[in-house]
Amino acid sequence: MTPHRSSNRIPVPGLSGRRPLLAWAALLTLVVLAIPGAPAQTGFNRDLIVLDPAHGGANMGAQIADHVLEKDITLAMALRLRSLLAARGFTVVLTRDGDAALSTDQRAELANRAHAVACLVLHASASGSGVHLATSTLNNVTPNPGAPVRWDEAQAAFLTQSERLADQIATALNRSQLPLVVDRAALRPLDNLQCPALAVELAPLTSGVSGGGSDATPVTDPGYQQRVGEAIAGALILWRTQARPPVMAPARGASTAVQDGQPAGATP
Ligand SMILES: [Zn+2]
Repeated sequence: MTPHRSSNRIPVPGLSGRRPLLAWAALLTLVVLAIPGAPAQTGFNRDLIVLDPAHGGANMGAQIADHVLEKDITLAMALRLRSLLAARGFTVVLTRDGDAALSTDQRAELANRAHAVACLVLHASASGSGVHLATSTLNNVTPNPGAPVRWDEAQAAFLTQSERLADQIATALNRSQLPLVVDRAALRPLDNLQCPALAVELAPLTSGVSGGGSDATPVTDPGYQQRVGEAIAGALILWRTQARPPVMAPARGASTAVQDGQPAGATP
């Protein structure tokens, strides 16, 4: 647990005294500017999706096959999803579009600035079967409007929406007859995300849930990736109209904690 910054407001001397109108205006400007980029946090950009291809750089993820690394599959899936979503009118923000090494905090900072209607953290696996959807293990809480938001619990206020989003995507995958598992995972940056968020892990396509059969379709298969991508993109079209912003703390205190998308001086 890391404490949030208590405040980044500029001290305003003599506020209790009488001031000419212009001086008050100048002070007000200072106070507003003291919260750089603090968003109103009144809702989502319903046309914006964040995709976070997990791993990258020296963090290679799992070995999927000979010469195939998880970091490459997650990026391929992100690029595929980006074009599917762009074709459906979405703006897509990728945390990386190359082999960059990013910390989970950097990923969450990028995502939280976007105010996306959905954030998907992409993983891949050589075991299991079909698609694994996971929401955060944080407790689902109604945020206290006066309380700052903790960086490592930022997802809690969005969990209800994240679970609904997972339901929507699960329904679409089911409809496409893709096997899936839905559960929860303690996974960063999921817990730090201020958007409806889930992890999506692609596993080989087999007829059973245990996976591993020699006849399995590997995660490298473009046709399989496309099926999964189209199901997810279809679900997100519906989600765009159904997502409801969480009850957020409107307080400046929250903006000094994480509403500007930064971990508030946190050390991971
Ligand atoms: Zn992974």
